[in-house]
Amino acid sequence: MKQNNINIYLTLDYELFLLKPGNNIDFSLINPTFDLVRILNKYQYKAIFFVDAGYLFALNRQKEKYPKLNNDYTKIVNQLKYLESQGHEIGLHVHPHWEDCFYNGMEWKISLKRFKLSDFSKEEAHSIFIKYYQFLQFNFQNKIISYRAGGWCLEPFSLIREAMKESGIFIDSTVVPGAYYLSKTHSYDYRKFPNLDYWQFNEDPSIIDEFGHFFEIPCSPHRLSQFYYWEKFLNIFYKKFQHESNGEAIKPSLLGIIKKLLFRTVDAISIDANKSNYLLGAFKTKERTGDKHFCIIGHPKCFTSETYKNLDDFIVYSINRGYSFTTFSKSLTN
Ligand SMILES: [Zn+2]
Repeated sequence: MKQNNINIYLTLDYELFLLKPGNNIDFSLINPTFDLVRILNKYQYKAIFFVDAGYLFALNRQKEKYPKLNNDYTKIVNQLKYLESQGHEIGLHVHPHWEDCFYNGMEWKISLKRFKLSDFSKEEAHSIFIKYYQFLQFNFQNKIISYRAGGWCLEPFSLIREAMKESGIFIDSTVVPGAYYLSKTHSYDYRKFPNLDYWQFNEDPSIIDEFGHFFEIPCSPHRLSQFYYWEKFLNIFYKKFQHESNGEAIKPSLLGIIKKLLFRTVDAISIDANKSNYLLGAFKTKERTGDKHFCIIGHPKCFTSETYKNLDDFIVYSINRGYSFTTFSKSLTN
């Protein structure tokens, strides 16, 4: 029997990011998404897909010239429309580095000099947000109401506050309470944010305002012990860590790795590769707290066989306990 009702959200960052040479979008995006949806369909469960609209926009910019890009663009839009028709929710994900990325006929030339919106001027950030929102929304019947910043870099929120209002987006799901990270590309510090599963805010997402215009549904945090990273580190060292995930993320800095080996760090609860091993345990801990929202993240490019197995086990557990997955539009409009 369930103790209290918990809204479980499975949120996916639907993005390509860095493509390994020789890879294609079937391998790193389309197929893993279909594999995931096949599992969700067994249980009639719905997910939320935060679509990297910058990537879609970049494909569109050059698709007339390159049939391959036209093909990629069509496949992605068709898959997203299929997902919406199946009752999954679409959210806006913004990776503005696509403004500086171009396809040369062979591969994408990726620039990370301007990785987050705060690397742009306020006017640029505003117009990129609006442009990506409109471009994405055009493909869907349902109104897009939620946002997740690329690379967890939400701040400063003042850069996008007006753009969010103008777009009718009132839910943010970027914050990972307690997490922080600073690097050449990334910058976020959520240590002073409310350690809650849900709150409302107005000007500043770190300050609760019960009458605020915006809702934060943070990614549920998980305190990872340093042993997790030691295991991972040693596996890489012995070249055992060649799991079969399909994409590539930015390599963490040496300092970042050392910190993770020495201290406990906070990470978002995730179904990516071997992180999915912690999903069920983290949820059981959450059940004891009385929280009402549990937000899981994932990236199709990082799915492995562990992902599918752990997700399936988690769903079976949630059903036995009387829970089910929901979407932001359902849980917040009820
Ligand atoms: Zn992303």
